[in-house]
Amino acid sequence: MFQNEQIYDVAIIGGGPAGMTTAFKCAESGLKTVVLERDREIGVPVRCAEGVMNKALEHYGDIPESVIASQINKIIILPPNKIPIIVNSSQGVILNRELFDKFLAKKALDVGTKILLKHDVFNASYNSNENLFYLQIRDQGLPIKSKLLVGADGIDSQVGRWFGLSKQLDLDDIDSCAQYLLYDENIQDGECSFIFDNTYAPGGYIWIFPKGNKSANIGLGVNPKKAEKSAKAYLDEYISVNFPKANALRFTCGGVPVRQSNQVLVKNRVMLVGDSAYQSNAISGGGIDTAISAGLLCGSSIVKAYSKGQFNDKKLSIYEQKWHSKNHNKEKIEQIIKTKITNASNDKLDKYFDYIRDLSLEELNVLNIFKTLILKRPSLFAKLSTKVFFDFLK
Ligand SMILES: Cc1cc2nc3c(=O)[nH]c(=O)nc-3n(C[C@H](O)[C@H](O)[C@H](O)COP(=O)(O)OP(=O)(O)OC[C@H]3O[C@@H](n4cnc5c(N)ncnc54)[C@H](O)[C@@H]3O)c2cc1C
Repeated sequence: MFQNEQIYDVAIIGGGPAGMTTAFKCAESGLKTVVLERDREIGVPVRCAEGVMNKALEHYGDIPESVIASQINKIIILPPNKIPIIVNSSQGVILNRELFDKFLAKKALDVGTKILLKHDVFNASYNSNENLFYLQIRDQGLPIKSKLLVGADGIDSQVGRWFGLSKQLDLDDIDSCAQYLLYDENIQDGECSFIFDNTYAPGGYIWIFPKGNKSANIGLGVNPKKAEKSAKAYLDEYISVNFPKANALRFTCGGVPVRQSNQVLVKNRVMLVGDSAYQSNAISGGGIDTAISAGLLCGSSIVKAYSKGQFNDKKLSIYEQKWHSKNHNKEKIEQIIKTKITNASNDKLDKYFDYIRDLSLEELNVLNIFKTLILKRPSLFAKLSTKVFFDFLK
């Protein structure tokens, strides 16, 4: 009933934050835009700890309060020796990700995007006679056709592989995550914790992100090469020791990319954005804010490349150039820090955290952590090229 045979200017596979922000930009400028989402509801199921810094939401000045589950006022980093680094901060929130994704979808709808649910794209090809992409939808007869294709289809992106933009991730490039939404009397509302301990989270960390009323997303990520059992098994062990009386309200699992973003973001009118392009933060695995900023950049590049019913391939590649020129050095340093953390013993982790113990939150960003570590342990960055080093410090 909802499918129609018109040719879209832009077809976007995936209705998460990356897809919806890209769609918003395209449709706002009058491009015929469709988002194809395989799930039956936007924002469901939630596969996320829902934490985000306020500044990531500034792109949308009018964020409704209803999409925010809880405000953060304290961040606690707990190294293996359990001597906490406590930062008083009100710079972050825990979202209600289901409502947040629906909010982004509504913004895209309001400017004319068509959203098709239960549209699982199982194949895509380019028809060079018609200069169109043909998208085959499971259980649907007719393909959907578009002039340009955006893969916003998450960490397991098929679009990247179908069109030769990306390859399957190596085990070192991914953290395997498990999470419960737990209810427990001992959960401190407003306090976000990051716990580093190889006993429970080898190569990764445990998070406690409170959602109010004594509930919290409590989860962990592990490096698959270091882990001896599943992420869920590690999490169950952690919960049984630390929250023995907790009740679980929801379980989720999934992978997060922890590497630099994909080198190729645009090729022959196919574009990748968000987790499908591995644009998340390699240290934290957080990807909501990068998905939004990449989606906005991707969408505005598409709009600028469109003229008289055609897309200019050179102008499309401005997205790739701008993304890498803004993020390459930061991502490189994030990845070096991530690799050091992944491979550190508990004793080493204690030492690393001692180096940054005295930084305040305003200073606790990648640049300052990098500056501090380079002063205290220059050998950590021995593999960094002088160019990246100086460009980053500029
Ligand atoms: C356990 C866990 C905890 C996390 N916690 C945080 C956090 O606290 N903070 C943070 O910033 N980030 C977090 N992340 C990462 C964050 O969720 C992602 O970075 C973010 O959702 C990326 O957005 P996206 O739009 O690129 O992809 P997604 O949100 O993954 O959206 C991709 C969409 O594409 C759809 N899709 C895929 N293939 C097809 C297809 N063939 N046809 C149609 N539809 C398709 C999927 O159904 C999905 O809806 C977490 C991730 C996990 C797994």
